[in-house]
Amino acid sequence: MDYTLLFASFVFGAVIGSFLNAVIYRLPRGKSLVKPKHSFCPNCGKQINWYDNIPILSYIILGGKCRNCKNPIGKRYLIVEILTGIASVVAYLKTGFTVDYFFVFSFFAILIAITFIDLDFQIIPDELNLTGFILGLVYLFIRKDMEPVDGLIGAVAGSGLLWLIGYLYLKLRGIEGLGMGDVKMMVFVGVYLGWFGALFTVFFGALLGVVAGVISATLSKAEDKGKFAIPFGPFLAIASAVYMLFGDQIKSWYFGGLM
Ligand SMILES: [Zn+2]
Repeated sequence: MDYTLLFASFVFGAVIGSFLNAVIYRLPRGKSLVKPKHSFCPNCGKQINWYDNIPILSYIILGGKCRNCKNPIGKRYLIVEILTGIASVVAYLKTGFTVDYFFVFSFFAILIAITFIDLDFQIIPDELNLTGFILGLVYLFIRKDMEPVDGLIGAVAGSGLLWLIGYLYLKLRGIEGLGMGDVKMMVFVGVYLGWFGALFTVFFGALLGVVAGVISATLSKAEDKGKFAIPFGPFLAIASAVYMLFGDQIKSWYFGGLM
Protein backbone atom coordinates (compact mmCIF):
# COMPACT_ATOMS: atom_id res chain seq x y z
CA MET A 1 0.00 0.00 0.00
CA ASP A 2 1.39 3.33 -1.08
CA TYR A 3 0.31 5.76 1.65
CA THR A 4 1.65 8.79 -0.21
CA LEU A 5 -0.64 8.08 -3.17
CA LEU A 6 -3.47 7.29 -0.78
CA PHE A 7 -3.06 10.67 0.91
CA ALA A 8 -2.63 12.45 -2.44
CA SER A 9 -5.85 10.90 -3.72
CA PHE A 10 -7.70 12.16 -0.63
CA VAL A 11 -6.34 15.71 -1.12
CA PHE A 12 -7.20 15.61 -4.83
CA GLY A 13 -10.71 14.39 -3.98
CA ALA A 14 -11.20 17.19 -1.43
CA VAL A 15 -10.17 19.77 -4.05
CA ILE A 16 -12.71 18.33 -6.49
CA GLY A 17 -15.21 18.35 -3.60
CA SER A 18 -14.63 22.09 -3.28
CA PHE A 19 -15.49 22.42 -6.97
CA LEU A 20 -18.57 20.21 -6.44
CA ASN A 21 -19.74 22.64 -3.76
CA ALA A 22 -19.73 25.35 -6.43
CA VAL A 23 -21.57 23.02 -8.84
CA ILE A 24 -24.17 22.16 -6.17
CA TYR A 25 -24.73 25.83 -5.41
CA ARG A 26 -24.59 27.28 -8.91
CA LEU A 27 -26.07 24.68 -11.29
CA PRO A 28 -29.65 24.56 -9.93
CA ARG A 29 -29.65 28.36 -9.66
CA GLY A 30 -28.78 28.72 -13.33
CA LYS A 31 -25.43 30.36 -12.58
CA SER A 32 -22.30 29.82 -14.65
CA LEU A 33 -19.78 27.26 -13.37
CA VAL A 34 -16.77 29.11 -14.78
CA LYS A 35 -17.70 32.75 -14.20
CA PRO A 36 -17.07 34.16 -11.67
CA LYS A 37 -13.87 32.18 -11.22
CA HIS A 38 -13.65 32.95 -7.51
CA SER A 39 -15.92 31.89 -4.69
CA PHE A 40 -18.09 34.38 -2.89
CA CYS A 41 -19.67 34.33 0.54
CA PRO A 42 -23.39 33.61 -0.11
CA ASN A 43 -24.25 35.93 2.81
CA CYS A 44 -22.17 39.12 2.39
CA GLY A 45 -21.06 38.58 -1.22
CA LYS A 46 -17.38 39.23 -0.45
CA GLN A 47 -14.89 37.34 -2.61
CA ILE A 48 -13.19 34.55 -0.67
CA ASN A 49 -9.39 34.74 -0.75
CA TRP A 50 -7.50 31.67 -1.95
CA TYR A 51 -6.03 31.11 1.53
CA ASP A 52 -9.55 30.97 2.95
CA ASN A 53 -10.65 28.56 0.26
CA ILE A 54 -8.42 25.56 1.01
CA PRO A 55 -10.60 22.45 1.21
CA ILE A 56 -11.36 21.23 4.76
CA LEU A 57 -8.46 23.19 6.36
CA SER A 58 -9.97 26.65 5.81
CA TYR A 59 -13.26 25.54 7.30
CA ILE A 60 -11.49 24.38 10.46
CA ILE A 61 -9.20 27.44 10.69
CA LEU A 62 -12.08 29.89 10.25
CA GLY A 63 -14.24 27.92 12.69
CA GLY A 64 -16.90 27.47 10.02
CA LYS A 65 -17.51 31.23 9.68
CA CYS A 66 -16.98 33.79 6.90
CA ARG A 67 -13.85 35.88 7.66
CA ASN A 68 -15.66 39.07 6.66
CA CYS A 69 -19.22 38.85 8.03
CA LYS A 70 -18.75 35.98 10.54
CA ASN A 71 -21.89 34.37 9.19
CA PRO A 72 -21.72 30.59 9.65
CA ILE A 73 -20.75 28.60 6.54
CA GLY A 74 -22.96 25.53 6.17
CA LYS A 75 -21.45 22.26 7.44
CA ARG A 76 -22.57 20.97 4.05
CA TYR A 77 -19.44 22.44 2.44
CA LEU A 78 -17.19 20.51 4.78
CA ILE A 79 -19.22 17.30 4.41
CA VAL A 80 -19.05 17.43 0.58
CA GLU A 81 -15.27 17.98 0.64
CA ILE A 82 -14.62 15.11 3.07
CA LEU A 83 -17.05 12.82 1.25
CA THR A 84 -15.44 13.52 -2.14
CA GLY A 85 -12.00 12.96 -0.59
CA ILE A 86 -13.16 9.56 0.70
CA ALA A 87 -14.71 8.75 -2.70
CA SER A 88 -11.37 9.45 -4.34
CA VAL A 89 -9.54 7.16 -1.89
CA VAL A 90 -12.11 4.41 -2.43
CA ALA A 91 -11.80 4.76 -6.22
CA TYR A 92 -8.01 4.58 -5.89
CA LEU A 93 -8.23 1.45 -3.71
CA LYS A 94 -10.50 -0.18 -6.30
CA THR A 95 -8.60 0.72 -9.45
CA GLY A 96 -5.08 1.67 -8.41
CA PHE A 97 -3.21 4.40 -10.22
CA THR A 98 -4.81 3.67 -13.61
CA VAL A 99 -7.05 5.30 -16.20
CA ASP A 100 -9.98 3.47 -14.56
CA TYR A 101 -9.49 5.70 -11.51
CA PHE A 102 -10.55 8.76 -13.52
CA PHE A 103 -13.82 7.14 -14.65
CA VAL A 104 -14.70 5.52 -11.31
CA PHE A 105 -13.97 8.68 -9.34
CA SER A 106 -15.97 10.77 -11.84
CA PHE A 107 -18.88 8.38 -11.30
CA PHE A 108 -18.79 9.01 -7.53
CA ALA A 109 -18.28 12.78 -7.94
CA ILE A 110 -21.35 13.13 -10.18
CA LEU A 111 -23.40 11.03 -7.73
CA ILE A 112 -22.39 13.37 -4.88
CA ALA A 113 -23.44 16.47 -6.85
CA ILE A 114 -26.74 14.80 -7.83
CA THR A 115 -27.47 13.78 -4.23
CA PHE A 116 -27.09 17.24 -2.70
CA ILE A 117 -28.87 19.10 -5.53
CA ASP A 118 -31.77 16.64 -5.40
CA LEU A 119 -32.02 17.00 -1.61
CA ASP A 120 -32.24 20.80 -1.92
CA PHE A 121 -34.24 21.32 -5.11
CA GLN A 122 -35.85 17.94 -5.94
CA ILE A 123 -34.30 18.13 -9.39
CA ILE A 124 -31.41 16.37 -11.10
CA PRO A 125 -29.82 18.68 -13.68
CA ASP A 126 -29.54 17.29 -17.22
CA GLU A 127 -25.95 18.54 -17.36
CA LEU A 128 -24.89 16.03 -14.67
CA ASN A 129 -26.76 13.07 -16.18
CA LEU A 130 -25.42 13.86 -19.64
CA THR A 131 -21.81 14.29 -18.43
CA GLY A 132 -22.05 10.97 -16.59
CA PHE A 133 -23.57 9.23 -19.59
CA ILE A 134 -20.83 10.45 -21.96
CA LEU A 135 -18.08 9.45 -19.52
CA GLY A 136 -19.68 6.03 -19.04
CA LEU A 137 -19.97 5.59 -22.79
CA VAL A 138 -16.28 6.41 -23.37
CA TYR A 139 -15.33 4.12 -20.47
CA LEU A 140 -17.19 1.20 -22.11
CA PHE A 141 -14.61 1.14 -24.87
CA ILE A 142 -11.64 1.29 -22.48
CA ARG A 143 -12.61 -0.97 -19.61
CA LYS A 144 -11.77 -4.67 -19.55
CA ASP A 145 -14.32 -5.83 -16.97
CA MET A 146 -17.46 -5.33 -19.06
CA GLU A 147 -18.65 -5.79 -22.64
CA PRO A 148 -19.81 -2.51 -24.28
CA VAL A 149 -23.19 -4.05 -25.11
CA ASP A 150 -23.78 -4.75 -21.40
CA GLY A 151 -23.51 -1.02 -20.64
CA LEU A 152 -25.92 -0.13 -23.43
CA ILE A 153 -28.46 -2.70 -22.22
CA GLY A 154 -27.95 -1.38 -18.69
CA ALA A 155 -28.82 2.16 -19.77
CA VAL A 156 -32.04 1.01 -21.46
CA ALA A 157 -33.04 -1.56 -18.80
CA GLY A 158 -32.40 0.68 -15.80
CA SER A 159 -34.16 3.76 -17.14
CA GLY A 160 -36.96 1.68 -18.68
CA LEU A 161 -37.70 -0.18 -15.44
CA LEU A 162 -37.67 3.00 -13.38
CA TRP A 163 -39.92 4.75 -15.89
CA LEU A 164 -42.33 1.80 -15.71
CA ILE A 165 -42.41 1.92 -11.90
CA GLY A 166 -43.11 5.65 -12.02
CA TYR A 167 -45.83 5.14 -14.61
CA LEU A 168 -47.57 2.40 -12.58
CA TYR A 169 -47.30 4.51 -9.42
CA LEU A 170 -48.95 7.41 -11.20
CA LYS A 171 -51.75 5.15 -12.51
CA LEU A 172 -52.35 3.43 -9.18
CA ARG A 173 -52.02 6.31 -6.76
CA GLY A 174 -52.51 9.34 -8.96
CA ILE A 175 -49.32 10.89 -7.60
CA GLU A 176 -46.19 11.70 -9.54
CA GLY A 177 -43.75 9.61 -7.51
CA LEU A 178 -40.74 9.96 -9.75
CA GLY A 179 -39.29 12.68 -11.91
CA MET A 180 -37.83 12.33 -15.37
CA GLY A 181 -34.51 13.36 -13.77
CA ASP A 182 -34.47 10.01 -11.93
CA VAL A 183 -35.15 8.14 -15.18
CA LYS A 184 -32.37 10.01 -16.99
CA MET A 185 -30.07 9.34 -14.05
CA MET A 186 -30.57 5.60 -14.64
CA VAL A 187 -29.34 6.03 -18.24
CA PHE A 188 -26.08 7.35 -16.78
CA VAL A 189 -25.89 4.75 -14.00
CA GLY A 190 -26.86 1.89 -16.33
CA VAL A 191 -24.15 2.61 -18.88
CA TYR A 192 -21.60 2.42 -16.05
CA LEU A 193 -22.95 -0.63 -14.21
CA GLY A 194 -24.38 -2.87 -16.94
CA TRP A 195 -27.79 -4.54 -16.95
CA PHE A 196 -27.49 -6.40 -13.65
CA GLY A 197 -26.07 -3.38 -11.84
CA ALA A 198 -28.81 -1.16 -13.24
CA LEU A 199 -31.57 -3.50 -12.04
CA PHE A 200 -29.87 -3.87 -8.65
CA THR A 201 -29.71 -0.07 -8.35
CA VAL A 202 -33.42 0.38 -9.09
CA PHE A 203 -34.54 -2.34 -6.66
CA PHE A 204 -32.09 -1.56 -3.85
CA GLY A 205 -32.65 2.20 -4.30
CA ALA A 206 -36.43 1.68 -4.13
CA LEU A 207 -36.01 -0.43 -0.99
CA LEU A 208 -33.92 2.30 0.67
CA GLY A 209 -36.46 4.92 -0.41
CA VAL A 210 -39.38 2.96 1.05
CA VAL A 211 -37.57 2.40 4.35
CA ALA A 212 -36.68 6.11 4.57
CA GLY A 213 -40.24 7.07 3.61
CA VAL A 214 -41.74 4.92 6.37
CA ILE A 215 -39.30 6.30 8.94
CA SER A 216 -39.91 9.94 8.00
CA ALA A 217 -43.71 9.43 7.84
CA THR A 218 -43.61 7.91 11.33
CA LEU A 219 -41.56 10.78 12.71
CA SER A 220 -43.54 13.57 11.04
CA LYS A 221 -46.80 15.03 12.34
CA ALA A 222 -50.02 13.30 11.31
CA GLU A 223 -51.30 16.21 9.21
CA ASP A 224 -48.11 16.23 7.13
CA LYS A 225 -48.42 12.55 6.22
CA GLY A 226 -48.21 11.85 2.54
CA LYS A 227 -47.79 15.50 1.68
CA PHE A 228 -44.06 15.65 1.16
CA ALA A 229 -42.13 14.00 -1.61
CA ILE A 230 -38.83 12.31 -0.82
CA PRO A 231 -36.20 12.86 -3.49
CA PHE A 232 -35.30 9.51 -5.03
CA GLY A 233 -31.93 10.52 -6.52
CA PRO A 234 -29.94 10.10 -3.28
CA PHE A 235 -31.19 6.52 -2.85
CA LEU A 236 -30.30 5.63 -6.43
CA ALA A 237 -26.90 7.23 -5.79
CA ILE A 238 -26.27 5.14 -2.65
CA ALA A 239 -27.43 1.94 -4.35
CA SER A 240 -25.30 2.51 -7.45
CA ALA A 241 -22.21 3.40 -5.38
CA VAL A 242 -22.67 0.17 -3.41
CA TYR A 243 -22.82 -1.77 -6.68
CA MET A 244 -19.80 0.03 -8.15
CA LEU A 245 -17.77 -1.12 -5.13
CA PHE A 246 -19.24 -4.55 -4.40
CA GLY A 247 -20.79 -5.52 -7.75
CA ASP A 248 -18.64 -8.62 -8.19
CA GLN A 249 -19.57 -9.92 -4.74
CA ILE A 250 -23.26 -9.08 -5.19
CA LYS A 251 -23.30 -10.81 -8.57
CA SER A 252 -21.63 -13.98 -7.38
CA TRP A 253 -23.80 -14.06 -4.27
CA TYR A 254 -26.95 -13.68 -6.37
CA PHE A 255 -26.00 -16.08 -9.14
CA GLY A 256 -24.04 -18.39 -6.84
CA GLY A 257 -27.17 -20.28 -5.79
CA LEU A 258 -28.14 -20.94 -9.39
CA MET A 259 -24.89 -22.51 -10.43
ZN1 LIG B 1 -19.59 36.70 4.45
